Amino acid sequence: MNQDAERRLVLESGLRRALENGEFCLHYQPKVDIASGRITAMEALVRWEHPELGLVPAGDFIPLAEETGLIFPLGEWVLEQACRQNRHWQQEGLVPLRIAVNISGYQLQQKNFIQRIREILAATGMEARYLEIEITETVVMQNPDFAVALLKQLADLGVHIAIDDFGTGYSSLAHLKRFSVNTLKIDKSFMRDVEINATDAAIATAIIAMGNSLKLQVIAEGVETQGQLDFLKKLSCSEMQGYLFSRPLPAAEMSRMLRQVEDF
Ligand code: C2E
Ligand code: CA
Ligand code: CA
Ligand code: CA
Repeated sequence: MNQDAERRLVLESGLRRALENGEFCLHYQPKVDIASGRITAMEALVRWEHPELGLVPAGDFIPLAEETGLIFPLGEWVLEQACRQNRHWQQEGLVPLRIAVNISGYQLQQKNFIQRIREILAATGMEARYLEIEITETVVMQNPDFAVALLKQLADLGVHIAIDDFGTGYSSLAHLKRFSVNTLKIDKSFMRDVEINATDAAIATAIIAMGNSLKLQVIAEGVETQGQLDFLKKLSCSEMQGYLFSRPLPAAEMSRMLRQVEDF
């Protein structure tokens, strides 16, 4: 058996017990307003502290969790943990920021999804306006009519909505106009070579222009270099996220960063 298949088997067999054993944790990556340099939000990214493999990134097990149905309890755990942590930061007296949570297409289709969001907000005492939901463009476009209705319900709650991996999922302007969204998030695949690849630069430029004309915020993910940031500045992109500012950090390190920036 090759190493990939073996790793997959180890992950699969451990996944079910991982939640009971408390092996998941969240890392937090700041989103930054480009004009002011201030942190506007943090994205919660789930990690698995595997007893043998060490820290496993989300991309390696979220698809498995979706196949096995674990995504439902895991998704709820992530939402609740993220809201709880954010509320905790607010109670410590830090400037209130949004906490962004990635939601799988499977979770969205749960009949009681909106109700669960309400319950989690009530249980953690976090206000809806400080919760941001990230949904991928592909999921939204799988069933645009369903998405329009669901996003409207979320928006009515006061939750902030971002379309993730934007540019990879074939939205039309006509669709975008119908969605109650606040933010378009440019997929990092377009940012990687934006300084050297004319097509990627054209796509990023078009997304920013479209967002600006629809009065939507536009955030670029995967920003790693000053050159990429300069490109975004020139086009008046509103926010950025990526290793250039910070990697996703464990809660304790994120706390330290939040306290430091307040001391400026
Ligand atoms: P995503 O939502 O598009 O998240 C961005 C991914 O890019 C994250 O990987 C993040 O760690 C990584 N990243 C951040 N900055 C940079 C950068 O400057 N350069 C590069 N090359 N990468 C960067 P991660 O954490 O492994 O997550 C992968 C995907 O797994 C996420 O993609 C998201 O779709 C999913 N995911 C993560 N956490 C959750 C979760 O709690 N629930 C669900 N349903 N999905 C999650
Ligand atoms: Ca995301
Ligand atoms: Ca992405
Ligand atoms: Ca993604």
